[in-house]
Amino acid sequence: MKLFIIGAGPAGISAALYAKRANIDTTILYKDSATLNTHHLIDNYYGFLSNNGSQLYEIGLSQARALEIPLISEEVIDIKVFDKIIITTNKNDYEADALIIATGSSRNIPPIRNFKNFEGKGISYCAACDGFFYRNKNLAVLGNSIYAAHEAEYLKNLTDKITIFTNGKEIEVESLKQFNIVEAKIKSFEGDDRINKIVTDKDEYDCEGVFVALGSAGALEFSKKLGLDTLNNKIVVDKNMKTNIEGIYACGDCTEGLAQVSKAVYEGAVAATDVIKYLNAKKRSLNEKK
Ligand SMILES: Cc1cc2nc3c(=O)[nH]c(=O)nc-3n(C[C@H](O)[C@H](O)[C@H](O)COP(=O)(O)OP(=O)(O)OC[C@H]3O[C@@H](n4cnc5c(N)ncnc54)[C@H](O)[C@@H]3O)c2cc1C
Repeated sequence: MKLFIIGAGPAGISAALYAKRANIDTTILYKDSATLNTHHLIDNYYGFLSNNGSQLYEIGLSQARALEIPLISEEVIDIKVFDKIIITTNKNDYEADALIIATGSSRNIPPIRNFKNFEGKGISYCAACDGFFYRNKNLAVLGNSIYAAHEAEYLKNLTDKITIFTNGKEIEVESLKQFNIVEAKIKSFEGDDRINKIVTDKDEYDCEGVFVALGSAGALEFSKKLGLDTLNNKIVVDKNMKTNIEGIYACGDCTEGLAQVSKAVYEGAVAATDVIKYLNAKKRSLNEKK
């Protein structure tokens, strides 16, 4: 029985420590960037007088390494649930029996006029969820990374009219170059009820749908793909950090409440404690069926 955790911040590492110490086969997938690395001092975390954020982050990683928990630096771009949970990264597919999402909170909404107004009215965050409604339409994918490439590849089966808008950034992955590319900065989205135009600082483009795939996929993108309940842009969990999908948990900044290290550490521990019970019950029931 395998547990995968996405995220190596305080929530993900805390969950991994609890799970591994209960002898659960635990693997962490993470990107190199971490919120803790972005701030200098943590003054309010129990047991540390005053700590550099990146030191705290490194200590977390070392704790996981000390327990021989595999820390795989790969970016997760898709998750699907069948009998097993299939996690797709920029390099591999993994099969899990349980998953803890601990990806923090990050949705970069660029300052583009009318962005919010067209969410759900032509602006989508999930090709697999909404792509079908845009068959043969003129589509834009907003992004420049491996995640944008993944979304564009999916949409390619539905339309051959795809343009990648990088919004001023350089293309990061070769496979995006098969599509039309517009690198100019976007000024606004225009339309009546629904979006019908993208205006850049150089030109205007007709467009019936925009798929947002900026940077990497985060908690909200995964929620959309999986059908996880969300509220106020956070994943909804119960008191054991369970989401509405069996075997999938969330903890830390991607759930509601204080965005603080102490809360992330607590929730990671709670999630892992419940995962342990969940996987043991699953194992028992499989053994009984044999
Ligand atoms: C400027 C600033 C100052 C702060 N100061 C304090 C403070 O003084 N005290 C305090 O308690 N808190 C502070 N915080 C908040 C604290 O940093 C967060 O609450 C905490 O880091 C949340 O932990 P987390 O594990 O939920 O998420 P994060 O620490 O954000 O970790 C998320 C993890 O998920 C990984 N990830 C995300 N997407 C993917 C993907 N697609 N594939 C693979 N991996 C992925 C990331 O690489 C990372 O490892 C501060 C935050 C900021 C921004």
